[in-house]
Amino acid sequence: MTRAKIHLLPTELRNQIAAGEVVERPASVVKELVENALDANATEISVVIEDGGQSLISVQDNGIGIPKDELELAVTRHATSKLQTSADLSNISSYGFRGEALPSIASVSRFRIVSKTQEDSLAGELCVNFGDIGENAPASLRQGTLIEVRDLFFNIPARLKFLKNPATELKRVTDLFVRLALGADGVSFSLVSGSRTVQEFFRFEDKKERLAKIWSGSVIENLIPVDYSAYGMRVFGYISNPKSLQSRPDRVLLYVNGRSVNDKLMLKAIRQAYAGKIISRDYPQCLLFLELDPKEVDVNVHPAKSEVRFRDERALFALMAKAVESALAKCPYYFSVKNLQ
Ligand code: ADP
Ligand code: MG
Repeated sequence: MTRAKIHLLPTELRNQIAAGEVVERPASVVKELVENALDANATEISVVIEDGGQSLISVQDNGIGIPKDELELAVTRHATSKLQTSADLSNISSYGFRGEALPSIASVSRFRIVSKTQEDSLAGELCVNFGDIGENAPASLRQGTLIEVRDLFFNIPARLKFLKNPATELKRVTDLFVRLALGADGVSFSLVSGSRTVQEFFRFEDKKERLAKIWSGSVIENLIPVDYSAYGMRVFGYISNPKSLQSRPDRVLLYVNGRSVNDKLMLKAIRQAYAGKIISRDYPQCLLFLELDPKEVDVNVHPAKSEVRFRDERALFALMAKAVESALAKCPYYFSVKNLQ
């Protein structure tokens, strides 16, 4: 076999490879775009989806916007406004920091960004056609950013084949959208699919009012509040009363410093705290927020940042278990069951 020379990959190919990690499906696009809107201090975010996101994903916000002359950078890999030095990497307070989402998405779709800052009188608009960056043109928009992503993965048939039917993709988008909305107080969110409003959260609704839109009435009526601090960390939110449990495994919503995560350790601690108080086929429902010093948690473990690594796993486990146990101990139903035994 003749050996090919080692060579640097062209930019478009690099972005497509990165997209393989960051952009798995329409829901991941929605996640990245909504997180960008939240990082831009938006108070209104509207998401529109068509065909489960395959033909269109559009996200519009009223955040700080991007100056016209920075639009090319916004779609360039490793370009970000959120990180300056490597010291910042251990102290991250924004959702984004990698500068990978927009170039990745734009390399696997027909992408259009329109954005306007408060200072500028005109908006700027840039189209990127499967990685091919077009002309920067003036446009009109109120302050904020509009991003449209069309024909996702049309240039990558292997990815396209891997997508499920539109209804399933919409469900994943909706789940993700709900997670983001539950983590961002003071922001209104709407999700429209075709012409149907799938989910809507108003700006001044609190977490419980938002939960009431997705969980059943009996669970909401019996929610137990949690607020517990130890080891320099705080965990707060709501957990379900063992008497109103449902047999649905996907209702544990966990956040670390505002970021929605799937963390097995936190889940294990919660399950342990519920053990003996529920029958084995029931699942607890929880919405729990963990707050800790950003230096105590590494969010730079996974490209989609849905997994994190804790410095002190033991303390974290103990904190979560105690937080849930002590909240359950205050719950009258649990005491009455115990007293009967
Ligand atoms: P990251 O979020 O990791 O910085 P992205 O590729 O998601 O990387 O975005 C690149 C940059 O574009 C961001 O750092 C930010 O400055 C800008 N940006 C992206 N989306 C928005 C938005 N909705 N509003 C304002 N600025 C945005
Ligand atoms: Mg981002």
